[in-house]
Amino acid sequence: MEASNKPEFLRKHFYLDCGFATRALHAGEHIGQPHFPAHTNAIFQTSTFTFETAKEGAELFSAQREGYVYTRLGNPTVLVLEAKLAALEGAKYKIEHPERTVSSIVFSSGMAAVSSTLLGFLKPGDTLIAGKVLYGCTEDFFLTVLPHFGISVVAVDTCNLDEVEQALDQNKNVRAVYFETPTNPLMGVTDIAAIAALARGKHPDCHVIIDNTFATPYLQRPLELGADVVIHSTTKYISGHGNVIGGAVVTSEQGLKEQLFHMMKDLGGCPSPFDTWLVNTGLKTLPMRMRQHCENAQRIAEYLEGHPKVSRVYYPGLKSSPYHQVAKKQMSGFGGVLSFELKDGYPAAEHVMNATRLFTLAVSLGCVDSLIEHPATMTHATVPEEMRKEIGITDSLVRISAGVEDGDDLLEDLRSALQNA
Ligand code: PLP
Repeated sequence: MEASNKPEFLRKHFYLDCGFATRALHAGEHIGQPHFPAHTNAIFQTSTFTFETAKEGAELFSAQREGYVYTRLGNPTVLVLEAKLAALEGAKYKIEHPERTVSSIVFSSGMAAVSSTLLGFLKPGDTLIAGKVLYGCTEDFFLTVLPHFGISVVAVDTCNLDEVEQALDQNKNVRAVYFETPTNPLMGVTDIAAIAALARGKHPDCHVIIDNTFATPYLQRPLELGADVVIHSTTKYISGHGNVIGGAVVTSEQGLKEQLFHMMKDLGGCPSPFDTWLVNTGLKTLPMRMRQHCENAQRIAEYLEGHPKVSRVYYPGLKSSPYHQVAKKQMSGFGGVLSFELKDGYPAAEHVMNATRLFTLAVSLGCVDSLIEHPATMTHATVPEEMRKEIGITDSLVRISAGVEDGDDLLEDLRSALQNA
């Protein structure tokens, strides 16, 4: 299947010897694609693949021969993105554990990645320990879908290690611990290495699953910190341009990959080749984009923290954040998303969202341009009101995804929008 036109040296060692930016550009490029002197990868926008003979078809289906048969089961354009993501999430891990491979599966959406992963790992009678603050649809899936399959979900504040330890002690059959770090939308940061050690110490067959959407592998690589599985909504920073919906799962355990592939194959959440091509193209500039996202978010957070109309800012890059130290320990930057509360409640929040000109009023995040939204009535509207209140998603909370515009322009836009708030 590997038909790269790169020299042997690059094919074998590319992931291991190069820096992150070089891997973002080159890893996986042209893997599995027939040799043709095109500079960029081809898009194999096809549902099925032809066989030379009936015997070849039978051999491909019985795995006596490697090759493509049907796009849900494999496609050369999809493979390029899977190889690049694996190289970005796991290269260093692979160096330290050369006997293990790091592999990935891409999906049609982040939610397809989340649901297929959990349905792949959990069975009736199992317990999932999950972070209390999660993306709204993930929360909804945990609360309303998993219980139908006989799976118990225990919600804890994963930023509080004592709470996690207690939940691990008090529950039987804990098969997975799942959390986002940083969290959506309150930017809480969980110590990945500490949770992985705790979980494994108490339940040896428990998988630690991290939604790494907010950080991206440029800022944080959970597999290096002891996690088993990393999930992405590639809709966000990984693709970066707001023109595609996608998801991905990366793992360092071959057995887990096979389990997850089985779920993708049977639940059917495979992406279109064109969409994976878009994601792969966007992913090439991830390092530069993330540096600018982080710089702008830091400036905005510091500006808002000193603003008289703002009561609280949630951003781990602020020294005042309770998560500043743990974020510094496990991330190489603090990310591009932040949230803040207006002193005058929802009317002031509504005014700011309507008054900004550069910040587009829309959900999603991680686009090159800046976005603004209201978690309580938009991204987290499906979270029951009582739960929203308990975790701190108030009506006065506004979430910003800082884009890569000139920082001065973003500050000026917020200054002017806050003036009459
Ligand atoms: N995980 C996080 C942290 C998200 O913010 C989202 C969407 O906003 C998802 C998962 C789901 O991703 P998608 O919208 O691509 O299905």
